[in-house]
Order: sequence, then C-alpha cells, then structure tokens
Amino acid sequence: MGWRCPRLGERQPGGVETSNFQISEPVIVSVCFPFVATPPVGDISGSRASLGWADEASVPYANFAYNLRMPRILCVTAHPDDEAAAFGGSLRLYHERGAEIYVVCLTAGQAGSHRGLAKTDHELAAIRRKEFAASCEILGIDRGVVLDYADGQLHRVDLYKVVGDLIQHIREFRPDVMLTFGPEGGVTGHTDHSMASVFATIAYQWAGRENRYADQLLDGVTAHRTRKLYYATGNFVLAGRPPVSPPPITTVIEIGDFVKTKIAAFETHTTQAPVFPLVRDTILSRGPEEYFHLAATTEPGSAARETDLFTGLSAKD
Ligand SMILES: [Zn+2]
Repeated sequence: MGWRCPRLGERQPGGVETSNFQISEPVIVSVCFPFVATPPVGDISGSRASLGWADEASVPYANFAYNLRMPRILCVTAHPDDEAAAFGGSLRLYHERGAEIYVVCLTAGQAGSHRGLAKTDHELAAIRRKEFAASCEILGIDRGVVLDYADGQLHRVDLYKVVGDLIQHIREFRPDVMLTFGPEGGVTGHTDHSMASVFATIAYQWAGRENRYADQLLDGVTAHRTRKLYYATGNFVLAGRPPVSPPPITTVIEIGDFVKTKIAAFETHTTQAPVFPLVRDTILSRGPEEYFHLAATTEPGSAARETDLFTGLSAKD
C-alpha cells in the first residue's frame, strides 16, 4: 500500500510495494494538517503574496524568498511529546520566521509508563496521537504524522523498512534542514531516541541516492539531498539517567519567550502529567536556548559556530 499526505500529492493507497519493504499504510497516519498557501512539492512557482508576506522587509529568509518557496524543516522523533520537549522552541521560532515544519514521529508512545486513563496500549496510542496533534498546533507545525512502529522496540524493527518510510517522506516533503536526536538518545538516553537518530541519519544520506529505494522514484518523486542534518544536543546531563555522551554544540538557537510555548506544548500531553513539574523545571533552568549539533551537510568543511539552522543556505539551493 502506498500513501501520501494529501498536501504532498495525489497518489492514494495502492502505490508502490516491493518484496523488501512496504510504504506506510494509511492506518499509521494520525495527523496531516491542512496548511495554507504552500506550493506543491517540486513546484516553486508560489509567490510572496501567496505566502502572506506583506513586503520586502518582512520576508523571512530573504535569500530563499526569490527562490519563491518556503524553507522547510523535517523533524524526526520517536514519541509524541519529543516534538515539544526536545525541539519545541526552535520549531515554533522557525514557524514564526516563515519555515514550513513537518514532524514525523515513529511511534504512538503506547508503551509509556505514564498512561493517564488509558486501559490498553491501543487506547493510550489513540490518546497520545490526539495530544500530539494539540502540541503540533501550539508549535505551529504544519504537518505532523505519527507512524505505527512499536514504542520501546525501535531497536528491533526492520531497519530497511523504517529507513524506507523516512526516505519516502524526505523525497516528498523535500526539506532543506532535518532535525533529530543524536545517537546517544538525547538527555534521557532513551533507546528509541537513539534509533530514531540512526534511522533518520541513514535516511538523510540515502534519500539523495537514486540507487537506494529506487522503486519510490515514480510519479514525479525524485531523489532529494537535504542540505543539513542536526542532532538536538545539550550542555548538561540528567542525574539518575543512563550515561550519555552528547554531540558537541555547534548551533545555539535563541528561542526567547517560545520557551513558554514549548512548555505549553509539552503540557498538552496530559497522559504525561506526572512528569510536568520535572520537565518544566528542567526547561526553565536551561534558559531560552536550544542546542544542536551539525551532524552532516552537503558542504564539506569545518563546523563554524552558528545561531541559525539555515546559515549557509541560499536561493540557488
Ligand atoms: Zn521520547
């Protein structure tokens, strides 16, 4: 079965299937937000007016503006609530700056130890998909998808399948920048975070190769090289958690008051209420910054310290 977000194209269930992997089925998609004024994938014929920019001075990423399409960020997470806790401030900030934001979450979080009123894993998954949708709305995320891989078991899933799923999303959305966890698993060291990093990193590298998952290259879908890949990282470790060795900080994003937005988004995940005080205190104690590690780029060279995820990208891209 094949599926594509309605905003990304018209191909409906019944698409590509191979002996090696299966593209995401419709059932695994919980949210696909309607969105205003986005050119179709591969179409850069939009205009500033259609993007709602009033004048030259207000155009975010002016270097992209004459390219006539919006800059795009794809964020790959493991659980509903990661989008808020690990990336929320930056996602909202770049939404405000005019970027189109897409989050792919690999599991519905059905194995969570905090379960709210859910009596079964199935109920918890359904609740957490709704919480994810509410969080995405607060963060200004334009598209959000929760896939149906097994929570807590990402180290056991078929690598070829999940990487293929991610590559399909990359080739359709065609991001400029990708975000995910580092292979250490973020400050919590969660194995699902580690595996999300592994899958997203391989997908980042292979999405641009025509000899990888070549059976996806149909109906106008082409290989896509994303310009930069970042891992969320930090300048601290959490007490009482598995030891982690965080990727060095290359990029500091000032999120300002969006630190509050990030907390508000996290607190839409009401099944996780027992950890709200801890998460709130942790976020507030770290201040209005989020840290990233530039893990890969299409421009080889030394990493310079950055304050913008789009540094170095230009209209010719
Ligand atoms: Zn998580």
